[in-house]
Amino acid sequence: MLTYQGKCHCGAVTFEVTAEEPLTAGARCNCSLCRRKGFVMALLPSENFRLTGGASELTDYQWNTQQAHHYFCRHCGIYTHHQPRTAPDKIGVNVGCIDELEPLTFDVELRNGQALSIE
Ligand SMILES: [Zn+2]
Repeated sequence: MLTYQGKCHCGAVTFEVTAEEPLTAGARCNCSLCRRKGFVMALLPSENFRLTGGASELTDYQWNTQQAHHYFCRHCGIYTHHQPRTAPDKIGVNVGCIDELEPLTFDVELRNGQALSIE
């Protein structure tokens, strides 16, 4: 099992991700929120994600159906992870928060999140 350490920009929020295989693939989403953030996400089983610090520094942004949780650091504003509405057993992780990974070299799938939005 591989373990990756992630953090927001200022370091107030830290997390750990585990994976069976090296993380090399991710997704981008075209919903109205993700298109503004422009990040590459890895969608992992919830049990592979562990918040290791800064729970009280996170802000939870909810919109549209108010079901998904989009977490970001209240100090530096960086999105770290989210709990998707369409896959409650998964966690979307901002690959850019993991220093040892290079999101720009990832195999990136485009997700049509726009089609899932109600507004
Ligand atoms: Zn921060």
